[in-house]
Amino acid sequence: MTTTVRTPAETVGTLGERALIARIRERLAPPPAWLLVGPVDDAAIVARERNAYDVITTDACVEGIHFDRGFVPPKAIGHRAVAANLSDLAAMGAQPRLILLSLILPPALSLAEFDDVIEGVLEACGRHRVTVAGGNITRSPGPLIVDITALGTVRPRRQLLRTGARPGDLVFVTGSLGGARAGLQMCEFGAESVGTDSASPKGRYLWPEPRIRTGLQLGRQQAATACMDLSDGLADGVRQLAQASGVGMEIDADALPIDANTRQWFEGRGKDAILEAALGGDDYELLFTAAPRRQGRLRSVQRTTKTVTFTRIGVVTGDKATVLVRGSRRDPMPEGFQHFLGEP
Ligand SMILES: [Mg+2]
Repeated sequence: MTTTVRTPAETVGTLGERALIARIRERLAPPPAWLLVGPVDDAAIVARERNAYDVITTDACVEGIHFDRGFVPPKAIGHRAVAANLSDLAAMGAQPRLILLSLILPPALSLAEFDDVIEGVLEACGRHRVTVAGGNITRSPGPLIVDITALGTVRPRRQLLRTGARPGDLVFVTGSLGGARAGLQMCEFGAESVGTDSASPKGRYLWPEPRIRTGLQLGRQQAATACMDLSDGLADGVRQLAQASGVGMEIDADALPIDANTRQWFEGRGKDAILEAALGGDDYELLFTAAPRRQGRLRSVQRTTKTVTFTRIGVVTGDKATVLVRGSRRDPMPEGFQHFLGEP
């Protein structure tokens, strides 16, 4: 296909589905050998990996629900959609392999924005050696939607589940909490923030990094008894992990890892930084539990994932209650965000 010169007026509506698909296809890396039939046919054919289970997940990013095009650049829209899916695979201890990319596009979307969404998708995939094995493009009567299905693999007995936490286990979280919520608020209020690099609050919101390597190592070394990713915040995660395992958890509020910029932003707005960090979604960190006698394994996982910190934030209990401990106060863990139920 010859390269066409883009004019600002060009939109996806003027180009049509086939030309858009061709436009994506010509940017794809050569397919790996295990992708027997790729995006050129009606469906992809994938050779199974020997001695491994397939792990499959799906997650849609909807304009107006998950992102606002007013302040989320098109490239970040693509990046975040991939990250959300890969984070779910990381939480299972899986190695990501491929995605299917379904784009539902308003016809007025400019070709420049379209190209940037694709760039965000391909860059995030490239970083984690994930293949785009197929997809679909449809016209949207309203919002822009990036709907992704991701496939990964995990060796038997290396999978991380939500169900294995036992009383006495220690509760850990990777990285830091609340950064993405602070970053989203900074974007919404048009606040000048200290940088947009990946460690800054805005960077945490716009360019989240799924903890794939950490998930893989936790699984490989059988260092965790239960694990999930924090897409909807710590409070939601603690409740869900405890419920799935049929246990309770006591979380030490003072132990929550909240970086200085994030804390400063919340406190500057008269908010309780601990509650904000516990309720904030989109951090894509891993929440996991580990048996006290397996802390040696945890240290060896930590050695292989050097840049990702682990913070011990609490303990698993037998009484099925999830509690946030603040000094002498013991509050029930606040309710996290749930679609259809609105913000707490
Ligand atoms: Mg998840």
